[in-house]
Amino acid sequence: EVADWQREVREQFPIITAHPELAYLDSAATSQKPKAVLDAVHAYLTTSNANAGRGTYPWANRTTELVERTRRRVKEFLGDPHPERSSVHFTGGTTEGLRTVARDWLAPCLTDGDEVLVPFADHRANLDPWLEAQGLLADRGIRVHVRALPYQDGSGDYDHRAFDRVVGPRTRFVAATHVHHVYGADMNVHRIREAVGPDVPICLDAAQSIGHLPVHVGKSALDVDFVVFSGHKALALPGTGVVWARNARGPAFRPGGWQGTPNTVGIASLEAALDWLDAVGTARIAGWTSALTTRLTEGLRRLTAYEIAGCRSSLAADSSVPAAQRRHGIVTFRHRDIPSDDLGFILFSHGFMVRADSLCQAGADEKTDGSVRVSLHVYNTVEEIDRLLTVLTSLG
Ligand code: PMP
Repeated sequence: EVADWQREVREQFPIITAHPELAYLDSAATSQKPKAVLDAVHAYLTTSNANAGRGTYPWANRTTELVERTRRRVKEFLGDPHPERSSVHFTGGTTEGLRTVARDWLAPCLTDGDEVLVPFADHRANLDPWLEAQGLLADRGIRVHVRALPYQDGSGDYDHRAFDRVVGPRTRFVAATHVHHVYGADMNVHRIREAVGPDVPICLDAAQSIGHLPVHVGKSALDVDFVVFSGHKALALPGTGVVWARNARGPAFRPGGWQGTPNTVGIASLEAALDWLDAVGTARIAGWTSALTTRLTEGLRRLTAYEIAGCRSSLAADSSVPAAQRRHGIVTFRHRDIPSDDLGFILFSHGFMVRADSLCQAGADEKTDGSVRVSLHVYNTVEEIDRLLTVLTSLG
């Protein structure tokens, strides 16, 4: 059952192998880093560290080349069919990336009476920037209507059957999420494109999908206009984020544009992380983590003391999509009687590191209050899931 390739991959994470008694189950917060990434950081800092974009000597030239090469690498990683038209903008992370799209690109495009569709129950980082843009415009006398993307109760996904009610002739923009950070649901982005037609830009928050499953922007794959993600959740260093823009105009999206000193060491880590992820294969990673997710979900469903967030009957009833395929590496649940911080403490006493605090879900803290979140990456094992289920069973 334990695949050889996975054992080899796990051994490439020094922090994991150094602590066999611990199970890291908080990768949705941040990922661990493989040796290839640590080595790339060390190599960059010991051979080339300099500022980028202003080089008259080899270290500076190598740093400039690193940044430009990583822009190209991001496009390749995303399967960008037209890299000559798109741009890659480096940010500090998803939060800053979404804010950049909202403030520097979206706000100047909107006029009085326009409508935008945004998620009201995903990560707060994918709601606040759009509301802030609306506020900025309101100060200038431009009224923009922000509408909620409808959700399907209990599935964790958007409700594509209700899109007709919110999409109209003034719909100018949609912000959506690829994989939900609480439910692990693989959101149905295709249906959003179908509902809004080919001309309305879609911005995708890929914080929880990048590095976990293929994120490909070819027209037959994810037909979106912006992909925003954080390097630190995809095996690279914190403080490194990406906005990929298919064909955006505006100062922040100038191809090859320089806005101050980029996080060069973070960019070195990102290049190494993308190389590593492509070598292992994001489809293979997705297969592994969704098998673990299914094992955990099925185990939990047998335990009556636990309730899984966003996973009620309707998902099971939607036979068109097998539940297992739609969940990626994230399971949030609560115990009937044990508060989340106690449960987090008990689990850590058994070596499990989980999230047992606010999940930063917009407008829904009360729904996930008292919940803990288990989130996985390629280094997690069947044995860890089974041990976790044994402990959870003993608390029932
Ligand atoms: N969006 C989603 C879906 C997330 O899960 C997160 C991080 N939990 C963010 C945005 C924010 O990412 P960051 O903190 O790296 O900016």
